[in-house]
Amino acid sequence: SGNAITPEMIDGLAATAMPLCMKTLHNAMKTQSHLKHGGRMQYGLFLKGIGLQMDDAITFWRNVFCKKMNVDEFNKKYAYNIRHNYGKEGKRKDYTPFNCVKIITGDPPKAGEYHGCPFRHFDEHHLRASLRGINEIDKESIITLARNKDYQLACRRHFEALFPKGNIDAVGNHPNAFFEEARKAIG
Ligand code: SF4
Repeated sequence: SGNAITPEMIDGLAATAMPLCMKTLHNAMKTQSHLKHGGRMQYGLFLKGIGLQMDDAITFWRNVFCKKMNVDEFNKKYAYNIRHNYGKEGKRKDYTPFNCVKIITGDPPKAGEYHGCPFRHFDEHHLRASLRGINEIDKESIITLARNKDYQLACRRHFEALFPKGNIDAVGNHPNAFFEEARKAIG
């Protein structure tokens, strides 16, 4: 379709249009050539939601993971999971991308895990470092919102700082909505 997202586009989209939760997963995946289960679910379903087709998803994950493992191991351990997320294995349920409430209230990430919502799950030092590039006034207001447990408002504020002309009302409940509005705002 006209909206097709190809594996080659994902690095650029992560840098420009993804919300902080997905950017975090993307960067961790690239640095470690791996992601644990919670991260694969959260990021994998998000990518499905932005229009990455199943075969392209397998290519994308395989290219990253196979920097550290061979293709046989990838096919055995991970390809099934991806097909499962697309409803092609197991109960053939068509899994939908997680919304913000599910991500914020879900199991928090343990050491070596990168899923979750940065506004909820990062300590202040880590959050501050992740907001590098945002001007100080915006940064302080985002951090204050997160400290007050207004996680989704902190994310909206982040969107506003990144995309002053974007449609803020459409953002804050779903990572895929953040992404779609960011892409529109980038134009
Ligand atoms: Fe992701 Fe939602 Fe948290 Fe924003 S509020 S970082 S979109 S989970």
